[in-house]
Amino acid sequence: MNYLPIFYDLRGKSTRVIGGGGIAARKADLLLEAGARVVVIAPQTHGEMTEMVREGRVDWTQREYREGDLDDAVLVIAATDDRQVNERIAAVAAKQHIPCNVVDNPELCSFIMPSIINRDPVQIAVSTGGASPVLARLIRTRLESCTPSAYGKLARLVEQYRDRVKATFGRVEERRKFWESILEGPVAEHVFAGRDADARELLERLIDEAEADPKYQGEVYLVGAGPGDPDLLTFRALRLMQKADVIVYDRLVSKPIMDLVRRDAERIYAGKERANHAIPQENINQLLVRLAKEGKRVLRLKGGDNFIFGRGGEEIAELIDEGVPFQVVPGITAASGCTTYAGIPLTHRDYAQACIFVTGHLKDGTADLNWDMLSHAHQTVVFYMGLNNVAAICDNLKAHGRDASTPAALIEKGTTPEQRVFIGNLDNLADLVAENRVKAPTLIVVGEVVELHKKLAWFKPGEEIK
Ligand code: SAH
Repeated sequence: MNYLPIFYDLRGKSTRVIGGGGIAARKADLLLEAGARVVVIAPQTHGEMTEMVREGRVDWTQREYREGDLDDAVLVIAATDDRQVNERIAAVAAKQHIPCNVVDNPELCSFIMPSIINRDPVQIAVSTGGASPVLARLIRTRLESCTPSAYGKLARLVEQYRDRVKATFGRVEERRKFWESILEGPVAEHVFAGRDADARELLERLIDEAEADPKYQGEVYLVGAGPGDPDLLTFRALRLMQKADVIVYDRLVSKPIMDLVRRDAERIYAGKERANHAIPQENINQLLVRLAKEGKRVLRLKGGDNFIFGRGGEEIAELIDEGVPFQVVPGITAASGCTTYAGIPLTHRDYAQACIFVTGHLKDGTADLNWDMLSHAHQTVVFYMGLNNVAAICDNLKAHGRDASTPAALIEKGTTPEQRVFIGNLDNLADLVAENRVKAPTLIVVGEVVELHKKLAWFKPGEEIK
């Protein structure tokens, strides 16, 4: 970050604008809008500035800039068309520690002006740190179009109730949730639709209700984060990720996805490495219940989909028993995401009429899977958590009749920039794992469709998708 964005209270303070032209006038206008007093120093004024002087909005000192002019100023804009004068002003301002902006000369500036979206009292400031003012303006245009003009009115309305709500909710967290429900709910809708009286009436009623029972009810969001690429998140996943107060997440949730959760949310790592659960499942269930009962919005974030080898069923069963409200957001499961990024269609009219997702985490050796069914031809079998048992998996499939030459793939870290895909068959898949030091998370895909990878592979790991 090259610059610290701050909002500076200029009300009633004395500022200087050196220069009497059009740019000086626009800067002076902005300072006036922020409530500052503006002294303009310039031998002549032009156009807009002449008008501002005539209307008495600014004080005009009619002469060239000279030493001592900045003495009681809290902020200065140097907007003369003389480079040397601008440099002198910047040097004096630096010495006197007065924030100084020199128009069209970022090197001399101690602060720069952002592009502004004004919904007074709401201000949104955009800056590219001087890298591209045009880009800043483009971003501003986008924000302009998606920031309702009534936000200013909404801010003014809720401002009047801040103290009352503060007194009602002792805890900051509860207060924040109350305000979020107001600003995202029907009160805001009333304001946007111009029904100001309805908005006020509803807000007052909700505050009355909160005063009678100020406990905020927490909830749990079970969200599938997909296989790794953050672009594969759903809109709802992203919305809830930015709303939650506490995140209980697994190892499989990728770093770029964790970067999208609310910055100040508490993070609890729940593990889920093979046979090395950082928190046992029973405790995770209880943890979710406890956090929600404390009034928190809890995000249970897991790789892929919660209902596919994700124990989501166990977690919501506990929430239901305990009466905790929740919602479940499906995610793209590894079988779908990783095979797509590897160019392996799970079904194909010529090769596979069915597709089976199965756990390769073999509980006691091999006996617990229906190997006869898994060994049928014309189907694709996807093994989750199978890396450590790859030899046993291939042996069992062969022993139950699947041809040894059946193509098979290993997809490591699918959908991420580090994705690796290895193609072999039931005879050599285990060797491929050893030779290439394949690591978790890896998906095993068995079936004729794997052959299609040669032709259909499209995703180049490490390159961004355009
Ligand atoms: N709920 C998850 C699966 C959890 S089981 C889902 O729906 O995807 C964990 C297994 O998923 C891993 O052992 C691995 O086989 C597979 N897996 C998850 N993400 C993966 C990825 N990005 N690349 C390869 N395999 C992955």
